[in-house]
Amino acid sequence: MTTTRFAPSPTGYIHVGNLRTALFNFLIARQSGGQFILRIDDTDPERSKEEYVDAIKQDLEWLGLHWDRVERQSLRLDRYEAAAEDLRAKDRFYECFETPTELDLKRKKQLNMGKPPVYDRAARALDAAAKDKLRAERGQGHWRFLLDQTRIEWADGILGDISIDAASVSDPVLIRADGQFLYTLASVVDDVEMGITHVVRGSDHVTNTATQIQIMQALGHSAPAFAHHSLLTGPQGESLSKRLGTLALRDLRAQGVEPWALLNLLARLGSSDPVEMIDDMDALAAAFTLSHFGAAPTKFDVADLFPLTGHYLQRLPVAAVADDLAALGVPADQAEGFWLAVRDNIQTRQDLALWWGICTKGATPDIADEDAEFIAQAMTLLPEGPFDASSWKSWTDAVKEATGRKGKGLFMPLRKVLTGQAHGPDMGSFMPYLQAVKRS
Ligand code: GLU
Repeated sequence: MTTTRFAPSPTGYIHVGNLRTALFNFLIARQSGGQFILRIDDTDPERSKEEYVDAIKQDLEWLGLHWDRVERQSLRLDRYEAAAEDLRAKDRFYECFETPTELDLKRKKQLNMGKPPVYDRAARALDAAAKDKLRAERGQGHWRFLLDQTRIEWADGILGDISIDAASVSDPVLIRADGQFLYTLASVVDDVEMGITHVVRGSDHVTNTATQIQIMQALGHSAPAFAHHSLLTGPQGESLSKRLGTLALRDLRAQGVEPWALLNLLARLGSSDPVEMIDDMDALAAAFTLSHFGAAPTKFDVADLFPLTGHYLQRLPVAAVADDLAALGVPADQAEGFWLAVRDNIQTRQDLALWWGICTKGATPDIADEDAEFIAQAMTLLPEGPFDASSWKSWTDAVKEATGRKGKGLFMPLRKVLTGQAHGPDMGSFMPYLQAVKRS
């Protein structure tokens, strides 16, 4: 059975980049009727916040990405301790005492000499007495995993065959001097103990994967299947890392973006499959193919979410927007007609307020100078309200008759005087809801 996980650190709100990871893992599990675990990576007690755990859950629920169970790393510290003991017993774990400044200096020297900045394993040479002395001076050391300096290889579900020379990678620190277990170890222990079969994550984790495969093997387990998706960039290929904060899912929701717009865009963006509008999770999962994604950075434009949102909304029956319409004060008996009149001219639910506002408060008329006289004449012919389904036709017929105008020259100024907009709903269907007209 397929078991996947989405493993956010609760140190902030999740954004479109995180959603991509969550969605891929969710869809893979869903495709095969497997399990999708929400794993909260909260081994860092200072940066992890409960409010972000709640927010992550709310955001996933809003999107319909339901998890089978939640795991929390902070509740599994004894498991990480057991794994650390195992690695110690196998002589794959060693204590180091370098300060960050010393490590930095080593790195700079290596770079100056044209060497890769790989930790030199100096601490391996310390005997028990030397370690005791350092411990007395500096306190507890940090712990590194001893990599086996061979090539680490795997068939990546997106990147293809990967081969990394372990000698080019520093032995990873798995426990900090203050005793905190780091993600690299915690994630390995969880992935093997929770029976994770597939891990999809960003390509910034490729080196982690190499070291994690060796740690898994050292602990006596085989590695799951790995796939690394490309990172998202802005529309011009610019890095999104600084802007991701503004692309939090809750901000997009506040702007009126619909879950299905996000799900459909991110399920296809960066793949060879075109973006569609599939509003059924099983169908979205069935049509998802991980191997169709490419390794190149993926351009993401937040603006693309709005036409997709519109496309999704326009297909909805009135029942799906009844609450929104009621909140605006649209009378129940007018809801369906109003919805059918305006739905092709909205991108978000919030746009409903624009059109209902025009109906109830009237629009500021948009009159071009050359149309002023024509409009003055037309307004004398506008029937008294309330308008009905025939009002637009009878008015435009009368204006045509009186002025001789026809086509766009007739209809456009009349649309603009009633709605203040150059584009909008079919006026015949819209006019029955127009209660207020600013006549001058
Ligand atoms: N907490 C890690 C992150 O957010 C999880 C990475 C992983 O999927 O293993 O980057």
